[in-house]
Amino acid sequence: MKLARLGGLTALSAVLIAVPAIASHSWNNYHWANSSGAVQLTVNYSISSQWTPSVTNAIGDWNASPKLDLTGAVSTANRKKCSGMTGQILVCNDSYGQRGWLGIASISLDPNGHIKSGTTKLNDSYFNSATYNKPEWRALVACQEIGHDFGLGHQDEGFGAPNLGTCMDYTSSPSGGGAYGPANTSPDQHDFDQLALIYGHLDTYDSAAAFAATNFGIRDLRKPAPAAVDPVDPGDSPAEWGAVVHEDGKGRPDVYMAVLPGGGRKITHVFWALETKRSDIHHD
Ligand SMILES: [Zn+2]
Ligand SMILES: [Zn+2]
Repeated sequence: MKLARLGGLTALSAVLIAVPAIASHSWNNYHWANSSGAVQLTVNYSISSQWTPSVTNAIGDWNASPKLDLTGAVSTANRKKCSGMTGQILVCNDSYGQRGWLGIASISLDPNGHIKSGTTKLNDSYFNSATYNKPEWRALVACQEIGHDFGLGHQDEGFGAPNLGTCMDYTSSPSGGGAYGPANTSPDQHDFDQLALIYGHLDTYDSAAAFAATNFGIRDLRKPAPAAVDPVDPGDSPAEWGAVVHEDGKGRPDVYMAVLPGGGRKITHVFWALETKRSDIHHD
């Protein structure tokens, strides 16, 4: 896709996605199907030690939502590929290259539109640099990308002050202070309120557990569930992410959608580095 097409897409997406920033920040109402009222979801993490505090803190923070019943699990999944795991979330870090992005969240949707798998990739090619090798940057991006995997969007998309005090708010200063105000390193009550709305109904099945029934029959509960590999790989570049459906507050495309064989979708949320320019982002 050529950047020249972005203008038209922007106008279209502005019409389709124009919602008050604070009143609602679900990610297009994407959600895991759940039949019990709280989504029982395993958040696997295949990460190196410098990510352990921010990733495990993020899982703990999100687990405070009454709608999320999360289990964190150490994984040995391939960090470079970070392939989707059916019915689960997988968080990975690696040096994914100087591709302009700090982190991405990728969800796949089943043909009914429910989330089937979610992944988060955290890019050490930036986090090992002086600008981003800070606990507050790791916390902001890990918390936000995992938040997308539950179906949340952003509360605010500008990068200037003041911070809203949630990791679902883009910022140039995640630690806050001065004109920026509170830190953007954890969810806030509004995120939990939004999750209560997104997960305020019961579905007829559980996409978060579906893999056990469909892939393995009666599961031997004495053994850990085998990791079912989703056919969806998040990829590392716009050419693998599909069409642009949304832009961030700096005019950079930050949500992409691709159609999967069989009628599902892959949707990718991209957290670009501060210094990445729209003209740096190539789609072919
Ligand atoms: Zn539903
Ligand atoms: Zn985001």
